[in-house]
This record gives sequence, structure tokens and C-alpha cells, in this order.
Amino acid sequence: MTPLTRLLARRIRAGGPITLADYMTECLLHPEHGYYTTRPPFGAAGDFITAPEISQMFGELLGLALAQYWLDLGAPAPFTLAELGPGRGTLMADVLRATRAVPGFHAAAGLVLVEASPRLRRVQGDALAGFHPKWAGSAADLPQAPLFLLANEFFDALPIRQFTRAGEGWAETVVGLRGDQLVLGRAPPAPLAALEHRLADTAQGDVVEICPAAAPVMSALASRIATGGGLALILDYGDRLSRGDTFQALRGHAYADPLAEPGRADLTAHVDFAALAAAATGCATAFAPQGALLQDLGIGARTEALAARLSGPALQSHLAASRRLTAPQEMGTLFKALAVFPQGAPQPPGFA
Ligand code: SAH
Repeated sequence: MTPLTRLLARRIRAGGPITLADYMTECLLHPEHGYYTTRPPFGAAGDFITAPEISQMFGELLGLALAQYWLDLGAPAPFTLAELGPGRGTLMADVLRATRAVPGFHAAAGLVLVEASPRLRRVQGDALAGFHPKWAGSAADLPQAPLFLLANEFFDALPIRQFTRAGEGWAETVVGLRGDQLVLGRAPPAPLAALEHRLADTAQGDVVEICPAAAPVMSALASRIATGGGLALILDYGDRLSRGDTFQALRGHAYADPLAEPGRADLTAHVDFAALAAAATGCATAFAPQGALLQDLGIGARTEALAARLSGPALQSHLAASRRLTAPQEMGTLFKALAVFPQGAPQPPGFA
């Protein structure tokens, strides 16, 4: 039993079963026992590996896309260069290295990292020393300025609520107790305004998920982009519409029981990109599979250029990393990219 299991059990005994959103919030961000607050989750030694940790090309290509679009919009200065949930800071370090040669880009940029975990803020500070990052606790705290922003595997970490269709209502998945054990259960079905629009495309027993925290984040980004210009590139696994149970735990690069060791496994759910796009009020959006986007941004040429300097196992692992990011059977189609940009502005690079 983890310390968090005991805390959660006490809470459930006192107040009844809790939603998956409440469960995820405690597991991921509890100040003493939360996953992101206490553990080094990323990389080969951690529980999962993300695109920027797979290859430097990911951050280079996305960074150049941001800088190209900054030029396309007339190089607004000053502007905010931001990332949501920067993890170890690898993506932003690659962005800054790749954009060094873009005239005026670094001079105009104020770097802001939106990060909840104090431990990860320190790691990011080390990775980005020299670029004077500032930290914000939420997207609502980003400066009112033109905004060029990346978010990779951020939205999948935001807490979700899960519902099963029952008649014209929805039964919510909850975490309760059987003895000392955390168990999943279902609350009695009730109508739900937030899922009214899903009555048309679901049948009895279908599962859908909503992420109440996502829309406020997106509208904070969209209001800055609509007013001052900019571009947000959001990459994550998921699809246009939430369908099915996607709540999952990863531990040591393998799927785990999400209730078994709260605080010790990463918990995620697929991102509903249609809901994200709908929350981007006043902005235009574009959508592409990650593989197609990276191809369009030139990952083929970049792979070859880097390969020319490599041989043996380093070459093999570089080529494998390029495939992993783009191939349909790997991350190429499971992961999607959403671009948020000003209405009437040109289409962002890679989203033609
Ligand atoms: N983008 C990184 C890390 C992804 S993990 C990469 O691709 O490698 C998710 C990141 O989001 C972590 O840095 C985590 O601490 C942060 N995070 C999770 N929930 C958050 C929240 N509610 N507010 C701010 N940051 C959050």
C-alpha cells in the first residue's frame, strides 16, 4: 500500500467515492506523494519516453516551425516563447538551439514555462540555464503578448472524468473502496449537459471522457493568440473525438493497473482534439497526424543530414528514432498535432 493509497482511502471513507479527475489530480500532483512532484518519470530509466527524449529532431523541427511562423506574422516583438509541461526541458533546449540563427528571434523572446512540479522546475532551470526562463503555474498566468507555444504530452496528463452511456444519461466512473482496496465503480446514471451533444453519436454502454481542465487552458492561449498573434502547437495522443476507455497507467515502460500504486505510475488519457479546437475561441485551428507533420517539416532531410555524421549503433538508433516518431505503426498516427493561430493568418508550416 502506498502512502497515497492510505490518504485516498481515508478520503473515500469520509466522503464517498471520488471521480477519476480527483483521483488523477492526487496521483499526479499531490505535493508529497504525487507522480510528477516526486519522481523522475522520463527517459529510458523512467516510466515512459516522449518524442523530444527520442530525438533532438522533434524539437528542432517544431522550433523552426514556430520561428518561421513568427517571421510570417511580421516578427512581433517582444513575444512570449512558452511551453506547457516542459518535463526535463529537452524540447525547449532543442527549440532554442535550432532557432539560434533566426535573426531577432531570441532577442524578442521572453521564455515562460508552465509547470506545476517544483522538482521539475529545477530540472528545467538547469537544462535552460542562460535563457532566463520564468515559470507560471497555469496558462492563465502567461503574459498578455504575442504567444508562440509548444505543448507535448501535456494535455494527456490533465485529469479526466469518464462516463458510460445509460439510457439518455451517463454513469460516471468513480474510485471507491472494497475493504482497504481501491476499486473502480460507477455512480448511478444522470443526465449531463456537457455530454448532451454526444447522445447523437453514442449507443448504450459506450464510454466517453471529458477533460474539464483543458478548455480553460486552451481559451487562455486562444485569447492571447487572437489578440496579439502567435501560434500554439499541441502534440499528444488521441483523436478528434473521445471514444472508449483510454484511462491508463504506465510504469517502467509497461501498462499497469491505474489503482495499484497511486503516485508511483504515470496516469494519462487520450486527448479529445475536437474539444480542444472548440475551446480555441476566436482562433483558426488545423489538425495533422504527427508523422505527416514531421515529414512536411522536413524530418527526412534532417534525418539524412544527421545520419551522414554517424555510423554503427549510433546510426542505427538515430534511424530507429526517426522511424519511431513518424511511422504509422509507431507514433506517427496515434499522435496528433493541433495548430492554433489567428483567424485570417496564413496556414502554419506543416499544416498545408
Ligand atoms: N513535455 C514533456 C513532458 C510531458 S509529461 C515531454 O514531452 O517530455 C507532463 C508534464 O506536464 C510534466 O512536466 C508535468 O509536471 C506537467 N504537468 C502535469 N500536469 C500539470 C498541470 N496541471 N499544470 C502544469 N504542469 C503540469
